[in-house]
Amino acid sequence: VYNFNPGPAALPLPVLERVRDELLDYKGTGMSVMEMSHRSQEFSRILEEAIARIKRLLKLDDRFQVLFLQGGASLQFCMVPMNLALTGKPIDYIDTGTWSSKAIQEAKILGKDVRVIASSEDKEYSYIPGNFSVDEDASYLHITSNNTIRGTQWKSFPNTGGIPLVADMSSDIFSRVFDPSPFGLIYAGAQKNAGPAGVTIVIIRKDMLERVPPELPTMLKYTTYAEKNSLYNTPPCFAIYVVGLVMEWLEEEIGGLEKMEAINRSKAEMLYSCIDEIEMYRGTAHPDSRSMMNVTFRLPTPELEKKFVEEAAQRGLVGLKGHRSVGGCRASLYNAVPVEAVEKLVEFMREFARNN
Ligand code: PLP
Repeated sequence: VYNFNPGPAALPLPVLERVRDELLDYKGTGMSVMEMSHRSQEFSRILEEAIARIKRLLKLDDRFQVLFLQGGASLQFCMVPMNLALTGKPIDYIDTGTWSSKAIQEAKILGKDVRVIASSEDKEYSYIPGNFSVDEDASYLHITSNNTIRGTQWKSFPNTGGIPLVADMSSDIFSRVFDPSPFGLIYAGAQKNAGPAGVTIVIIRKDMLERVPPELPTMLKYTTYAEKNSLYNTPPCFAIYVVGLVMEWLEEEIGGLEKMEAINRSKAEMLYSCIDEIEMYRGTAHPDSRSMMNVTFRLPTPELEKKFVEEAAQRGLVGLKGHRSVGGCRASLYNAVPVEAVEKLVEFMREFARNN
């Protein structure tokens, strides 16, 4: 099928084939990666290679360290403020919808001093705010680079004037090129663009580790993962292995993030122009803020939307239902969704509009 699921999402077919081929016997070891010691030489190579590829793809220099955690992006909503908030310095957030709101909520639960310096709540989170100023007394500024549910995305990142930027990049990491230098920390659940669920990628600028309060529980401190190269306890080995294969696919088959971005741009443009052209469809995100990853749109009635999703699925175009909190339709066009899938979707959308 052509898989437009929002996450867990499609994985590149060559990666799945490789996983299948290596499942029972990883490179002549006579075992699956699932059965291997996380302290073995083979796994150590898998881990190092995944890290090296992530660093190359994102052009991270040695100021940054790549960590593998568990607990999803949702655990980062509280780990980030626990580790990086400075005493007497508020944490600034920009609220662009569900995921930022949840991150804000977790910091509040911890009793942190939270300032929401901009929000797009006034228009149902249909845009990325442009009018705000970052205060230099903040601990850091937190943003969600892509709002998976509303289909909005930061086109360029805010200038923070030296305050570390922290981003939840769960739904657009590895989809485009960006300059990592303003970031103090980036986190992403792997299950959209990077691999299977079960591993969370955290990229931390090493100087941020100095902020980690020593009294935090061991597993909730970034220093624990940084000092032991993500091997303090048993990491999600198999998920890390698949992440490594996805990174290899990105580097060696796609040819890097510039190429990936161009492909993603052309897929998104194809779908948005269909939406703009045909009266039956209405894009929900403001055109300036439209996401290349999650394309959200409505049809005139919920009944038609239901019919659209069902008929699309019968054609092998699956996962087009909007998030349950907002309704409507959503096509997630992550890296592994081929151009051909979007061509088929657009063809179906034209036909559906003609027939209905
Ligand atoms: N952040 C964003 C932007 C997301 O899209 C999601 C899930 O869809 C999450 C966080 C939650 O991630 P997890 O399920 O890994 O906790």
